[in-house]
Amino acid sequence: MNKDIKMNEKTNNMSLKFTSISENEPFARSCIQAFCLPLNPTISELNDVKTAVSEAVTNCIVHAYPKGVGIVSVEAETSGNRIHIKITDSGKGIEDVAKAVEPFFTTRPEEERSGMGFTVMKAFMDDVKVLSKPGEGTVVEMIKFFNAGIDAEEIGNSWGNDA
Ligand code: ATP
Ligand code: MG
Repeated sequence: MNKDIKMNEKTNNMSLKFTSISENEPFARSCIQAFCLPLNPTISELNDVKTAVSEAVTNCIVHAYPKGVGIVSVEAETSGNRIHIKITDSGKGIEDVAKAVEPFFTTRPEEERSGMGFTVMKAFMDDVKVLSKPGEGTVVEMIKFFNAGIDAEEIGNSWGNDA
């Protein structure tokens, strides 16, 4: 996960594994929020990450294990002003990823799903990759840069120098 990290960048890693039940969606949201905080994100950036993680985790809960429950894993790494998040299930997988990521595509219209989960992830994160194999599971990798946090730090430093 940390192939392209510069040597002088401070990194941090975390890994969570939990059962694919709906109670664990707010658990994952809270964990990712707490993990992001040391990077000093804006409220808006933090909400973007929480929403994207919530969509990906909800997909694992709703779609991956239709016959029961399974394990969902959330791994995250921060480096500099960047967070890299990987959400994995070992469920049924996605037949056609290109189709699944299209806006309004859903295989669960009867549950009033809007088919906008992947569209939301793409809108709120700087990069989203979906890898899936039918019968093996799905991996969603997302990257977000917390630019405002770094800018604020730089402004703070320059004020300090002028004083
Ligand atoms: P919404 O997210 O708006 O409630 P949705 O979950 O159907 O609706 P997306 O999140 O965009 O929409 O996902 C599109 C489709 O991709 C899903 O309907 C489902 O068929 C498939 N899919 C998504 N994630 C997974 C997963 N982890 N395992 C299996 N299939 C998935
Ligand atoms: Mg969804």
